Amino acid sequence: MKGRIEIDRELCKGCSYCVSACPGGILALDSEFNASGYYPARIIDPDRCTGCALCAEVCPDVAILVWREEG
Ligand code: SF4
Ligand code: SF4
Repeated sequence: MKGRIEIDRELCKGCSYCVSACPGGILALDSEFNASGYYPARIIDPDRCTGCALCAEVCPDVAILVWREEG
């Protein structure tokens, strides 16, 4: 299964929950602040996203959207 996510940099508070939750370890915190002064999450290897949505489920700020391609 292939997936795609979008992280809203400005909603993100850099808590890193999604980074810990991703089974593939394909998320990390950015090295540049967002407008609120947090280091937002970013995807470092988008091709390996399965669309499992665990990152979005643990995000307290609803900053991640997930799409999934079946088949
Ligand atoms: S949807 Fe799953 S594989 Fe993709 S970034 Fe989120 S936790 Fe990782
Ligand atoms: S769980 Fe949400 S708020 Fe926390 S780092 Fe990830 S995207 Fe940002």
